[in-house]
Amino acid sequence: NRQIVLAQRPKGAPDANTLRMDTTAIPSPGPGQMLLRTVFLSLDPYMRGRMNDAKSYATPVAIGGVMTGQVVAEVMVSNLDAFAPGDHVLAGSGWQDYALSDGVEVLNLGPAPARASWSLGVMGMPGYTAYAGLLKIGAPKVGETVVVAAASGPVGATVGQIAKLKGARAVGIAGGGAKCKHVVEVLGFDACIDHTAPDFVDQLRAACPAGIDVYFENVGGKVLYAVLPLLNAFARMPVCGVASWYNLPGLPDGPDMGPAIMGTILRMKVKVQGFIIFDSFARSLYAEFVRDMTGWLEAGQMQYTEEVIDGLENAPDGLYGLLEGRSFGKRVVRV
Ligand code: NDP
Repeated sequence: NRQIVLAQRPKGAPDANTLRMDTTAIPSPGPGQMLLRTVFLSLDPYMRGRMNDAKSYATPVAIGGVMTGQVVAEVMVSNLDAFAPGDHVLAGSGWQDYALSDGVEVLNLGPAPARASWSLGVMGMPGYTAYAGLLKIGAPKVGETVVVAAASGPVGATVGQIAKLKGARAVGIAGGGAKCKHVVEVLGFDACIDHTAPDFVDQLRAACPAGIDVYFENVGGKVLYAVLPLLNAFARMPVCGVASWYNLPGLPDGPDMGPAIMGTILRMKVKVQGFIIFDSFARSLYAEFVRDMTGWLEAGQMQYTEEVIDGLENAPDGLYGLLEGRSFGKRVVRV
């Protein structure tokens, strides 16, 4: 049973010393337990946070502990009535080939689910994050302008497409021409600006002639600073993530941006609200999310891009690349 464990806490970007592969015996399920074999492992930006020993919404991974992660797994042996061998499940059993589970907080997807890995993306946590954060906090109105960065990633792609379905204008921000082309041509955003372009700030202003009503915050950093002067009065800012800062070991050098951020929030009466989809935020919207997203996907109104990496041994580099913007769409590992 291969397991990827946290070898040491990274200072800054994680590297080859951060994670380690261990091998243990395949465990046997006792009464009230089942044995799961991992099929797909999700790679997500929050995993960087779990490597830190810092106060957060979730407990950090212990040194020597198996890395946290959501998986789609197959039930191999079951001593639980609600799960049978061959069933596929959505579980939080982490970066390993096999795991025991007591079935708590495990979703049974049935014996042969179509597109099982989508439960880790558009039909799962990232899709629900986009849906709940945009509709509950962003609350876009017809004709308003919604801006979202990491626009080709699973959260951003979904945010922009839902904004369009609600009659808003969607402007994406992504790293590089290929991602921007995809965001406009495949995902149907009205525009997408490359944050690596030297004139990024001017291009963003030109793409938002009526200002910005909803800024769905995924990255922080220079994207946030470019957005600030464009925010309209009573703009909403769901704060979902700050991916450009996850590898920071401390506060960055440079000017203190606090006055610009707080001054804009004050003068423009911006509503800023952080949220964590794992906790109780918007739990009540889940049934609506499943209904709407299933309908949009079936009707071809929602496009989804997935990038599959083969082999558990390639998961660490897969995560590090994702944190640096080298993923394209939702990254999963076929274990
Ligand atoms: P992605 O797969 O889109 O990966 C993160 C992306 O962030 C990268 O691909 C890159 O895209 C972008 N990025 C990284 N560094 C920078 C930078 N310096 N400047 C600008 N962009 C950068 O991630 P997800 O769709 O899974 O998640 C998006 C965000 O949502 C993350 O911040 C994540 O932590 C957050 N999140 C929050 C949840 C919550 O409950 N609050 C739940 C799920 C996700 P590009 O190359 O296009 O710049």
